[in-house]
Amino acid sequence: MIAEVIVDIANSNVDKVFDYLAKDDTKLGSRVSIPFGKRTIEGYVIGLKTTSDVPADKLKKIGDCIDDYPVLTQELIDLGDFMCATNHLRRVDCMRLFVPSQLRSQKTKPLLINYVKTSDTFDKQALLQDVRANATKQRQLIEYLEPTKEYAHAELCKKFGANNISKLLSMGSLVTLQRHKLRKPYVVDKLDKRVTLTDSQQKVVDDILSNRQGVHLIFGVTGSGKTEVYMHIIAQIISEGKTAILLVPEISLTPQVMGNFKARFGDNVALLHSGLSDGERFDEWQRIREGDVKIVIGARSAIFAPLKNIGAIILDEEHDPSYKSESNPRYLTHDVAKFRAEYNHCPLILGSATPSLESFYKAKQQEYFLHELPVRANNKAMPTIQVVNMCDEVLNGNTGMFSQQLLNDLTSCVSNNNQAMLFINRRGHSSYMICRECGYIPKCEDCDVSLVYHSEDNQLKCHYCNKRYKALTNCPNCGSSYIRYGTMGTQRVVAELRKIFPNVKILRMDNDTTSTKNALTTLLTEFANTKPCILVGTQMIAKGHDFPDVTLVGVMNADMSLHYSDFRSPERTFELITQVAGRAGRADKAGKVVIQTYTPRHYIYRFVANYNYEGFYNKEINLRQVTSFPPFAKIFRILISGEDEDKVKTTTKVIFDKIKAIKKMFSSEFLYYEAMKSPIGRIEKKFRYQILMRIKPTYQAKIEKDVYQIVDDIHPNGIQLFIEVNPSNLS
Ligand code: ADP
Ligand code: ZN
Ligand code: ZN
Repeated sequence: MIAEVIVDIANSNVDKVFDYLAKDDTKLGSRVSIPFGKRTIEGYVIGLKTTSDVPADKLKKIGDCIDDYPVLTQELIDLGDFMCATNHLRRVDCMRLFVPSQLRSQKTKPLLINYVKTSDTFDKQALLQDVRANATKQRQLIEYLEPTKEYAHAELCKKFGANNISKLLSMGSLVTLQRHKLRKPYVVDKLDKRVTLTDSQQKVVDDILSNRQGVHLIFGVTGSGKTEVYMHIIAQIISEGKTAILLVPEISLTPQVMGNFKARFGDNVALLHSGLSDGERFDEWQRIREGDVKIVIGARSAIFAPLKNIGAIILDEEHDPSYKSESNPRYLTHDVAKFRAEYNHCPLILGSATPSLESFYKAKQQEYFLHELPVRANNKAMPTIQVVNMCDEVLNGNTGMFSQQLLNDLTSCVSNNNQAMLFINRRGHSSYMICRECGYIPKCEDCDVSLVYHSEDNQLKCHYCNKRYKALTNCPNCGSSYIRYGTMGTQRVVAELRKIFPNVKILRMDNDTTSTKNALTTLLTEFANTKPCILVGTQMIAKGHDFPDVTLVGVMNADMSLHYSDFRSPERTFELITQVAGRAGRADKAGKVVIQTYTPRHYIYRFVANYNYEGFYNKEINLRQVTSFPPFAKIFRILISGEDEDKVKTTTKVIFDKIKAIKKMFSSEFLYYEAMKSPIGRIEKKFRYQILMRIKPTYQAKIEKDVYQIVDDIHPNGIQLFIEVNPSNLS
């Protein structure tokens, strides 16, 4: 037999399949040690075959299997092929996605616990006769032991004394053995809150279960009870002996939320997310691989769980940007999930109150099945939304960060012993400039996206076409010199609030306050138990939380992401504000939302204030169509970086000229094609250049393939090459 092996070296030059002479026990999907050059390294067996093109005397012999079991299933091997072909990934990077790093590093080992049990020669009566009458503990121990039962060694020692156990061991009446102990992720103990589904929830469950194929989009307002729908679908699937994967954004994977799933499904659930310790992650992965669990819940990377016989795959909050991996290996979770769903002949279910434009477009085109949950599960009204013009505040002499309206609402919220959440939009950082008197924001003349301020050369740059502009000192619209480009930090807001509300508990939730293990849980628990209380936070507070006493949500700086230099900015802003607004008034008390903005006339606020997703969608998809942006075109960026600038430039030129030849054949398909220095020209000593193109859909697949081929064929030393599709960050 010949084994096809991928070597575990992250280098494009050796990223191909090598043939080795297999051993009798070489199994498909296993990790093996292999001779490679003068070294012995590790590899993955991704195929077995009978013949090879390599001459027999040149074939090297494969080494031993590293683990007792294959680490990859046939499905994952096929998925690797698919991802390499469609995302232009290195094979080794895919393998590393599939196999937990804890396994590869060999630093994490199964946790073994010593047990004892009685031996074949154990004879209770004989032993009791041999023991002195006053050796009470020893007698108790012998009485206590039952044949064939296993006891944790440490616990038995605690009960009866270590020397008594040792004695029986040395006599051969007891034997030791080792057992695995599973390290389990922490979840909050909860009672299972059973509800009767509403008619619309039941309809969605029935519709999906009676049509188990294709992609289903559940478009349900915040609080419509999507989680309950997922749980009912999963319960049915596992009662049929199948398994399910539920993905949620990382931030929703709090022990509280997971507590709900454990309460309903018990030990059938495995969790995979970044908050786990190495040991926990390793053990959860093993439980999945061995088929001990039926449900995997996790963040993006849980889509690679080695689960078999999958009956449903669910992506909750499918619009969430975290589903796109933006660093190597780059992939979109939706694509991977779709592959696995098709492979397992099961439905892929996407859920959101604010579906991504791409997904809703596909639903409208009837490529996806669309299901709607238009009202909250408890029939409560959506919170009222008020948009406040911050330019008016400045003109009225209020230059602080809170509008009068928000201050009034905060005051009545805390005096009624309720809770408030204040959301600070950090997307885009300090990167755009704004006139605080008229709300003017400089945009690119050619691209209709906001310019990004670069402090290193005091310039404004367009990230789509690289045009540069002078930084502003006065507003070209109204002449005001009141120009701002600063971040509003959580710390500053908290400090200000403490001055205004000295007797109210103020909590802060951002990357700084949640970096340590369990910090997020502690913070959320504290918030849940404190009244009145104001929680100030970044994007983290926008998603998933279900606190019944939150009656007010304030959006401090709605504009921040609106003018971010990304074609998805309006979409992201609409999403974020709708999601964060959805945190208010979820139980018995009515909710209110105050949105502060310098550009209140921007169309998104009209739609946000009325919860009009479809209106927003129609406007935005139309804009994308006339400007030829995704889904009506694809944006490609080839990023070329390296420490030797001349070499980076030369490589860029070589690739640029080769693609130009393709462009000649398909000139009408290229909406845009340029090479340039990246907006951030150097990161970590590496110079960065890029080739940007926007291509119409008609011949996209063919052009894409050619572009990949061109990039594949050159391997300049010391240069990194990456291709990104529809990147959301062009810096
Ligand atoms: P979504 O994810 O759609 O925003 P959730 O799943 O968080 O909504 O549900 C919102 C709230 O409604 C939760 O507290 C949930 O327990 C409750 N809920 C869901 N379905 C029902 C139902 N059929 N009857 C009563 N309450 C429900
Ligand atoms: Zn102005
Ligand atoms: Zn431009």
